[in-house]
Amino acid sequence: MLRDRTLRNAIYDIVCGKVLFDEPMSRHTSMRVGGTADALVFPGNVEELRSVFCAMRSFKIPFIPIGNGTNLLVKDGGYRGAVISLKDIKNMSLMERGADEVLICADAGIALSEIVFLAAEKSLAGMEFCAGIPGSIGGAVKMNAGAYGTEIKDTIEAVRLMNGKGETREYKRNLLKFSYRNLDLPESAIITGASFLLNRGIKKQILARITEILGMRKAKHPLEYCNAGSIFKNPPGGVTAGQIIDEIGLKGTQAGGAKISEKHGNFIVNCGNAKAGDILALIDMVKKKVKEDRGLDLETEVKIIGEDG
Ligand SMILES: Cc1cc2nc3c(=O)[nH]c(=O)nc-3n(C[C@H](O)[C@H](O)[C@H](O)COP(=O)(O)OP(=O)(O)OC[C@H]3O[C@@H](n4cnc5c(N)ncnc54)[C@H](O)[C@@H]3O)c2cc1C
Repeated sequence: MLRDRTLRNAIYDIVCGKVLFDEPMSRHTSMRVGGTADALVFPGNVEELRSVFCAMRSFKIPFIPIGNGTNLLVKDGGYRGAVISLKDIKNMSLMERGADEVLICADAGIALSEIVFLAAEKSLAGMEFCAGIPGSIGGAVKMNAGAYGTEIKDTIEAVRLMNGKGETREYKRNLLKFSYRNLDLPESAIITGASFLLNRGIKKQILARITEILGMRKAKHPLEYCNAGSIFKNPPGGVTAGQIIDEIGLKGTQAGGAKISEKHGNFIVNCGNAKAGDILALIDMVKKKVKEDRGLDLETEVKIIGEDG
């Protein structure tokens, strides 16, 4: 797909060499599995992103934007096309909004943890719920990341998007379609940044909430293993996917090097030598058992891309 040397050289030139060809995606995803991407490209700013984007479109090369790869499962056969990492697009600024509010504008590549700790440092409340979510702004906005009763859409004022023509525009929140773990985007749109409206608060209280959340996560999640957070979305009705998996007795089930965590039923962990195929086998098995036992169709929260090995 992206084997042509002239095309590879063109991409190399656009991003001043910041591209890895035939790169194992296991090195760039929190699950630590996955075959090679033809190209993993790291544009350093929005202009470079636009040029990569336009090149991919004109050569009809498939592409996918990624952030920190913490909600991403790349299959063992890898990805034919370009994976565009937004990690190097990472400016951030603060703007006063009257006496009580501050707007934080962050590029897509900023890590959520950076915003959480910057906000705390500046005594700004509203981002604490994101403590411990290892994603980037772009990934968190696309996934409408959430925890402890709050979702990222609740703090967003606007999102910057690059559209199919490579043009960038800002959209106010009321024009965007957020839902549980999703932001509906036009085909091939890329999030380039977002702004968050935060309230002035009390630093000690903000830091205490962050510490509390990090403690809860450590107690409940199998952070000692590579994982991708919750594998399944919670079905409607109030019982979580994790509870259902626990009740059916699937915790601890293993396939190759992957295992359903004994600590949390909705986490599949890489015990060290897992293949994407092992994780996919567990996903299929859970879906089948939950359908048989509860009549429910569990939907994956983790995004699955690429080709079978
Ligand atoms: C230990 C752990 C705990 C977690 N806890 C939570 C939690 O509490 N709540 C929660 O919601 N999630 C959680 N997650 C999942 C994950 O961290 C979030 O979904 C996160 O927001 C994903 O961000 P990312 O940058 O890693 O996205 P990626 O995994 O890189 O990408 C995820 C999806 O977003 C798309 N995407 C990424 N960047 C862009 C962009 N710039 N423009 C358009 N699309 C883009 C990708 O194509 C992909 O479809 C957890 C994960 C782990 C490993």
